[in-house]
Amino acid sequence: MNALPSHLELVRGVVLPKPVGAHPVLDFVNTRSEWTSRASARTEWLTSYEAFLIWNAYVGLQSSALTDRLIEQADPVEAARSLRTTLDFRSDLYDVLTGAAGNAFEPVARLVEKASGRLRLVRSDNKITWELPEDVVLPLHHLAVLAGELLTGASREYVRTCPSCGWLFLNPRGRRRWCSMATCGNRAKARAHAARVR
Ligand SMILES: [Zn+2]
Repeated sequence: MNALPSHLELVRGVVLPKPVGAHPVLDFVNTRSEWTSRASARTEWLTSYEAFLIWNAYVGLQSSALTDRLIEQADPVEAARSLRTTLDFRSDLYDVLTGAAGNAFEPVARLVEKASGRLRLVRSDNKITWELPEDVVLPLHHLAVLAGELLTGASREYVRTCPSCGWLFLNPRGRRRWCSMATCGNRAKARAHAARVR
C-alpha cells in the first residue's frame, strides 16, 4: 500500500487535504489544488456530495452523527445539485476573498443572505445557539454563514494567498509566507537550492 503524502489524509475512504488555512472557510476554499490557474483543478477533493459531508466532519464543522444522517437522507439529484452550487460558491468566494475583479460578489452575497435568513435561535438545556434546518443544503449554508462572518469580521484583513499554489490562509502575525512548509515551502526551498548550485 502506498503511503499518502504528509499533507493528505484518508478519512472514511476519502482522501482529503489536511487543514492549513487556520479558518474553516479558507480550508473550504483550499479543497482544490492550484488556484493559480483558473483551469479545472489538477486535484479536486470534493469529488462527491458525500466527500463534501465527510470533509465538513473532518474539519470539525459538523458531527459525524449529523454527517451520517445527511448521507442517509440525501436524494441523489438534490445532492448532486447541492455539490454543483457548493463548487460554484467556492470559486466565487475565492475571487471575493482575493479581491479579484469580476462578478463574484453578487452570487456570494445572495447565498450568504439566503443562508443567514434561514438561521433560527434554538434553546436547549439553557444553551442558546443559531441553527439551520437539517436538509441537503445545511453544510453549504453553514459555510455561507461563516463566510459572511469572515468577510465582515476582523480576520478579513489577515487573509493571505500562497504565492506558489494560490491557497488561502490567515496570517495574523505576518510570519507565514506559504500555505504549508511541507508542500509549497519546501518546493520553494528546493528551487532556491537548485538555482544556487546550478
Ligand atoms: Zn501553497
